[in-house]
Amino acid sequence: MSQEFKKTACILCSINCGLEIQLDGRRIAKIRGDKAHPASQGYLCEKPSRLDYYQNGRDRLTAPLRRRPDGGFEEIDWDTAIREVAARLAHVRDTYGGDKIFYYGGGGQGNHLGGAYSGATRAMLGSVYSSNALAQEKTGEFWVDGQLFGRPRCHTTGDYEHAEVAVFVGKNPWQSHGFPRARAVLRAIASDEKRALIVIDPRRTQTAELADYHIQVRPGGDAHCLTALLAALIQENLTDSDFVERHTRGFEDLTRHLQTVSVADYCARAGVPEAQIREVARRIAGAKSVSIFEDLGIQQAPHSTLCSYLEKLIYVLTGNFAKEGGMNIHTRFASLGGGGKGGMRVSPVGGHRIISGLIPANVIPDEILTDHPDRFRAMIVESTNPAHSLADSRRMREALDALDTLVVIDIAMTETARHADYILPAASQYEKWEATFFTLEFPHNDFQLRAPILEPLLGTMIEPEIHSRLVRALGGLDEADLAPLRAAADKSWTAFGEAFLAAAAVTPMLGKLAPVVLYETLGRTLPDGAQAAAALWGAAQSCAMSFPESVRRAGFEGEGMELGNALFAAILRERSGIMFTVDEYEDTWRRVETPDGRINLIVGELMDEFVGLAGEDPAARNPEFPFVLSAGERRTSTANTIYRDPAWRKKREIGSALRMNPSDAERLGIDAGGRARITTKRGSMETVVELTDTLQSGHVSLPNGLGLSYPNENGERLIEGIPPNELTSGEDRDWLAGTPHHKHVPARVEAA
Ligand code: SF4
Repeated sequence: MSQEFKKTACILCSINCGLEIQLDGRRIAKIRGDKAHPASQGYLCEKPSRLDYYQNGRDRLTAPLRRRPDGGFEEIDWDTAIREVAARLAHVRDTYGGDKIFYYGGGGQGNHLGGAYSGATRAMLGSVYSSNALAQEKTGEFWVDGQLFGRPRCHTTGDYEHAEVAVFVGKNPWQSHGFPRARAVLRAIASDEKRALIVIDPRRTQTAELADYHIQVRPGGDAHCLTALLAALIQENLTDSDFVERHTRGFEDLTRHLQTVSVADYCARAGVPEAQIREVARRIAGAKSVSIFEDLGIQQAPHSTLCSYLEKLIYVLTGNFAKEGGMNIHTRFASLGGGGKGGMRVSPVGGHRIISGLIPANVIPDEILTDHPDRFRAMIVESTNPAHSLADSRRMREALDALDTLVVIDIAMTETARHADYILPAASQYEKWEATFFTLEFPHNDFQLRAPILEPLLGTMIEPEIHSRLVRALGGLDEADLAPLRAAADKSWTAFGEAFLAAAAVTPMLGKLAPVVLYETLGRTLPDGAQAAAALWGAAQSCAMSFPESVRRAGFEGEGMELGNALFAAILRERSGIMFTVDEYEDTWRRVETPDGRINLIVGELMDEFVGLAGEDPAARNPEFPFVLSAGERRTSTANTIYRDPAWRKKREIGSALRMNPSDAERLGIDAGGRARITTKRGSMETVVELTDTLQSGHVSLPNGLGLSYPNENGERLIEGIPPNELTSGEDRDWLAGTPHHKHVPARVEAA
């Protein structure tokens, strides 16, 4: 076993804590936190200790696969695979139009670098529609950011380390993290009597158990609860009037409605004590600083976009914006959105709103399973598994099978790959240069380019090379264009930049193919074989151009392109990552993009829904489905689906259990450890039951990340646990953003 520890990162959640890994051959033998990582500083939770189950899973693919007429797969060589994939996709483009080729994915929690190269393949194909997992979670919030602060990219983040009061709405950071060193920060707040932790969650989560105030809202009652909190702030004159007057617009209109809200009535509907809501309103108003984190608990439940709006009003009305310990608009190293053609606003078939370039994930099958002439005919799926991760898996599989061509780029034989016409096997995240673009922090924002710690598994290929070859096969990349760029790259990065800009001005397609052009030119000159990092030169330039002062405060020098070059050089050099921007709180105001620089408090499109809450009863249930199922609870024994081998979990049976309140179990005649059948309008499955009073009566939960098909030692495929999306429905989604109601699935439970 090698004694050397190699620097990399955890790939199991968006925080990507720095890791040091010791290898035993190709096995990940030991893992420890990287103390030099600028954000995580050696911190780890328990989940990455089993990363070898990802790296050396039995499901790894080692050759391109082509579907045979009998439905099985056959191995083909890479040249054949690239040639045939390019020809199939070009046929769809030339017959129906490139906009009928839909792109989904581009990376998960740890791998966005490979997906950055897909833009070139899509440019050659004319593919303009895309989506990814953010459209299952965050697009409603992004849309609200756009309404309040001017653009969806005006995304705010909390400063939990410095906040006097931290509020978590539908968020359990003990388990799902969401900011660096989450458990240490939570413990510090909880143990300081001058600070307070407030949790709004139907479940008594680990974070709720640490909290000073746990508002245990009724499932589905979030919008009423948040409205009651806002009404208490307004009616008791607890808002920051100076801030509101100087920095917002629409306060009078907002107040007019909130003055009419009965706090007592809304609390009763939300199932929370009025006295607690009023006490929490006063605690928030009296705090020097407040940070608020909203997450999937509200983003995947009824009224999700409205709830994002209400959550943001709380911190704006109390003046907790653009200040230490409050909410701030952060920098970003690269965009996570899907891009697309300017001005395009809706999906081609259903006319569904596209937010941040992303088509709502729930409507993808509707955009395929139709005879509409503009339906999607082909799909490229990269590093993601929509047949498992999107609502209504059965319908998603049907949609995948209805495509003329499905191409999957992934490391493993996923549920989606099994429906593909071609599967292109990628190298794992530890076998290539990799990075994530989850750069969401303030005032210090960090980025880590991870070097490979292993050679690619034989037969696999890194995504930049896959896309470069596809672009060539599609007729892009003229050697006559590339040669002068290579010569310039040999001289200096500045010479390269000037040559590239000049060439793109003459041949605009070079700009559209920029990632692979960089890979094929500048990339070949990068040290340590970091060719795949070439696209980051462009990202570094754009970051330095967008946030020059913040980049300089992080210690980088130079003007124009030189500043971007300095940033890029540090990214290539520092294996533990770098702070790429250091912000001042005033920077947040410079990033507000409304025409008058004020925060807009009235969002016209949400007002009917807001006012309509008065007539709604969140306790109402369909008698056929009297339970609310939270489909996809994050538990100690669950991670994202890159752990395909169920053996990674120590307590396997209990980890896959349906959790329910003991009073419900008793009523239904189910014992602890007994079995239950859970039924929704889309499916019915049986599983073991775990009893817990952390859930309210009438609320049940299933874990995320289970129900994957995985081969045992004999090659037989087995499924362990329930795949949650066999039970969810695509039509249960937010009316505006299309985000799914995974945390609020009407269900029936019976003893099995
Ligand atoms: S907090 Fe997230 S990134 Fe850090 S070790 Fe845990 S799962 Fe990995």
